[in-house]
Amino acid sequence: MNIISRNDGTQRVFLSEGTLNVSEILQEYYPEIYDSIQKEGFILKYSQCNLFKELIFENNVVGFCSYDFSREFMTLALNNIYVLPKYRGNSFLLNELTSTMAEQNKPSIMEPTRLIVELLIEYGFSSKITDNIVASAIEFVVPADHVLSNGEYGLEELSTHFYDLDICASIHILDAERSHVAYSAPLNYDIIHYDCIEYRNGLCDDYFMDISQIFKDRDVEIMNVILDLEENLPLKTYTLDEIIGPEGEFSFYIQSMIDDAHITQQKALEIKSQIREEYEAGMILNDSLLIRLAYLFDENHDGRITLHDDVCPYCGMPTDTHDRFCHFCGINLDYDFDEMENALFNSISHEKSDFEEDIRFIAYKFLKMIEEKIDMDYAIFAIENTYNINWNELNGFLDVNGYFAQDHITPEGCGFLKSHPLHFWNKYHMEIIDYTDFENYFYIHEDLASIEICLNYLNKFEKDEYIIDIINEIKKDCSNF
Ligand SMILES: [Zn+2]
Repeated sequence: MNIISRNDGTQRVFLSEGTLNVSEILQEYYPEIYDSIQKEGFILKYSQCNLFKELIFENNVVGFCSYDFSREFMTLALNNIYVLPKYRGNSFLLNELTSTMAEQNKPSIMEPTRLIVELLIEYGFSSKITDNIVASAIEFVVPADHVLSNGEYGLEELSTHFYDLDICASIHILDAERSHVAYSAPLNYDIIHYDCIEYRNGLCDDYFMDISQIFKDRDVEIMNVILDLEENLPLKTYTLDEIIGPEGEFSFYIQSMIDDAHITQQKALEIKSQIREEYEAGMILNDSLLIRLAYLFDENHDGRITLHDDVCPYCGMPTDTHDRFCHFCGINLDYDFDEMENALFNSISHEKSDFEEDIRFIAYKFLKMIEEKIDMDYAIFAIENTYNINWNELNGFLDVNGYFAQDHITPEGCGFLKSHPLHFWNKYHMEIIDYTDFENYFYIHEDLASIEICLNYLNKFEKDEYIIDIINEIKKDCSNF
């Protein structure tokens, strides 16, 4: 067998925003691992990944693991791990999970086998709450097409803290009152080694009722088990500055999003100040900073899951009573709005800029927050503290124009948002031009169609590559109408 050596102590990593084919990497770079997998008849759990890492033992490459991060792009889910047979028993899984937690963030595991869950118990990352039910600080993720349920269940990915060793399944109580449970489909490994089909044949109403009863009766106790397990994880604690960057700078995460053209400089600045305010108000925990950043970067949060009985008050996605923070938007689920407001009063500097903002600009900023489902009291508070305006003045303006009524944006308000210069400036990533100048030009030529104003304005410039790109983008959009 030809094992690859890494005498310089390095560990090779393949990383891609798109998908990597695991078998192709193995065949091309690690034929000895590929052959061993074939010989054992081992089936890779997932054929694709975003991150592929070598596993090293005494300077030799003796296996690999791979991760998926398509779900929430900054948290990793382990989807394959393989070690050559004669090197097993050297704590590869433990070392891998520990180093990921220490260097990055808590990973989750895609559809663990019972063997993996038993190892997690051994490592102290999970523990039994009954003879067969396991609670885990590391979450288990089950892709939508592998989720089964004793009731109605849409095509939704499942993320859970619980596992049943008898039926070899990640389990999640959707509704304890109605004994509605979702669980993962059987894996080949568990069918062969743990006879899980035999156990699953015994699944009946009693099983689902008993399991739901355990969660009803011991709710608080179970939550504390998870909190204790989480507290003992060797996690890296992020500071606010590491996540958003210190004053006047962007963090590595934000800068790379800007460099890859995922967001504009302007949007990044807004997100940065929003996170700082929310963090200082206790709305985000250190553990959830990175998730919050990922959530605010991602503009498509339309996924609404309605089957779960507990949902996050901020984003409406399912939560578990055992969660300290929402795993989708990163909000601290224990935070109290009144308390937060007081903290905000103390944290935000009350100096306002002397610069007189156009009231239409402020109205746009306010309605945008409402559109993004930011709490109205918070939006008013943020506006009053940022601009030289009080709520009465702003509300008067909104009222006269009929943009906002009964705490909702009216159709006129929607029209206002879609025709505001800032809307176009953001939409077409015009940050290389000065916004104020663009806004002035826009209002002077208000009698023309918005798109025409944008094009006329851009045509005033020397045609550099960037301006041409913006013009093409706008024209492409027009032809789609
Ligand atoms: Zn949420």
